[in-house]
Amino acid sequence: MKRPDEGAFGAAFLSSRVFRLCARLGGALALSALAACPSTPIYSEPEPVPIAAPERPAWLKEPLSWKKLEQIEQWIDHDSSRHSRELVAEAELQLNEGRMYFTRRDLDAGSVSRETLTVRVENAKAGFTKVLDNPAASSGQRVRAESGLRLCGVLMSTQKAQDVAIIKRAQWGARPARTGNMTPLKGGWSRITIHHSAETSSDPDGGSFEDSANTLRLIQKYHMDDPDHRWGDIGYHFAIDSGGRIFELRELQWQGAHAGGNNNQQNIGICMLGNLLKRSPTPAALKSLQLLLKDLRGKYRIPAERVAPHNEYGSTQCPGPSLTAWIKNYK
Ligand SMILES: [Zn+2]
Repeated sequence: MKRPDEGAFGAAFLSSRVFRLCARLGGALALSALAACPSTPIYSEPEPVPIAAPERPAWLKEPLSWKKLEQIEQWIDHDSSRHSRELVAEAELQLNEGRMYFTRRDLDAGSVSRETLTVRVENAKAGFTKVLDNPAASSGQRVRAESGLRLCGVLMSTQKAQDVAIIKRAQWGARPARTGNMTPLKGGWSRITIHHSAETSSDPDGGSFEDSANTLRLIQKYHMDDPDHRWGDIGYHFAIDSGGRIFELRELQWQGAHAGGNNNQQNIGICMLGNLLKRSPTPAALKSLQLLLKDLRGKYRIPAERVAPHNEYGSTQCPGPSLTAWIKNYK
C-alpha cells in the first residue's frame, strides 16, 4: 500500500493555506466564513466593524515536524480557549494528520514498536473524534477527520505485521528484480504453497544469518541467471531458515514462480531453507512458519485448507515427508 496518508497530509496544508487566505480578509467575519471560503459571496457583506484579529498561533506557519506537533499540543492545552472552535478543530486535524504521517513513515522504516504504534493511533483517533464532535467544525474538516479515522484503522491492521519480524530484501543482499519479466498479482492472494530449498548449506549445523543470506543469494542467482529459468527474481515470496528467521523474497505485488504455470496464480510461495527429505524442520522454523501463516491468512483471508505442500501441485517430494504431514494437520 502506498502511503494513504499523503492525501490527508496535503489536505492539511491546502486547508491551512485556505485558512491564511481567509484570515487575511480580516477579523471575525473571515473566521466565520471559513467554511465557505474560497468561493466568492454572491451578495455584498456589510462593512465589517474593525475588531482586533485574534492572535494567529505560530504553529499555523510551521512546516510539519515533531516540534510543530508539540507546539500544537501545548496550544490546545493552554491557549485554545481564546480562539474560535474552528481553529481548535484545525489544530486537532493538523496534530493528528501529522502524527499519522510520521507513524506511517516509521512503520515503513520498521522503526516503531507495537506499543508506540498503539499509543499514537489511539491518540489520533481521540483527536479526530473530537473534530467530529465539534459543532463548529466545517464540512471540509469533518471529511478530513473521517479520512483520518479510516487511516487509523489501516495502520492498526498493519500493526499485526509488526508482530512477525521479517528480514527485508536489502538486509540479505538481494539483487534488484527484473520486473519486466514478472507478472503483477491479479485478483488477490487466495492460497499458500510451502516448499523446502533442498540444499544443505543452511541446515541446522550451518544456520547462521550469513549462511542463510548466502544461500538466498545463490537461489536468487540460479532463478534469475540459469538458462532454464531466467526469471525476474527469486521465485518464492518468503523463506524461513532453521533458526526461525523469516526473509522477504519476491515482493507481494508480483505473482510467484514456484508451483508451476497456472498454479502460481494468487499463490504465495514460502520456502523452508534446508533439505527436509530426511529430517524434520526445526521447532524454531515451525514456530515462525505458524506465525507467518497466521499473519498472511489474516491479511488476505486465506482458509487453512488452502495451505498446501508443493507435492499437491505436481510429482515432487518437496517439501519432504515430515513437513508435508505437518501441513496436512495444519488448521
Ligand atoms: Zn517446492
